[in-house]
Amino acid sequence: MGLISVASNLSAWRGYEYYKSKKVKNFKQLGADEYTGQVTGSDGVYSIFLDTKHIRKSTCNCPHANGKRIICKHIVALYFEIFPKEADNYLELVEENEREAEQYKIELERKLHKYINALSKEELREALLEVLYDSPEWIYERFIRDRIGY
Ligand SMILES: [Zn+2]
Repeated sequence: MGLISVASNLSAWRGYEYYKSKKVKNFKQLGADEYTGQVTGSDGVYSIFLDTKHIRKSTCNCPHANGKRIICKHIVALYFEIFPKEADNYLELVEENEREAEQYKIELERKLHKYINALSKEELREALLEVLYDSPEWIYERFIRDRIGY
């Protein structure tokens, strides 16, 4: 059931938040893979039809998804309400991605420190000049003002 992979990252996350803050009012199973339900949105209660086998057939009557084949946050919220295990899996995946991003940042910083520490004074001077020269003007001006005082 790859519903989350069909939704945009934003809709998936907002749908998870909707699910967690209990915005799903009710749901009913219609067939083997078909459900209907109601989710409280920013502008009223929306009606959702969820088809877990043919995900693109799912619908929601909110302004964002109405009449389009979009998996909006309301559909995602309903999906998580019906399949809480999928919500747990989703959160795990998000947290895993965050850990990886954090790890990447730490690694990049470590490499940057290593690189800078290996530079000579002259190389540092050149590198700083280059960065400042390419920076937006306000950074350049602030640097000069703070360092030289005008
Ligand atoms: Zn919707």
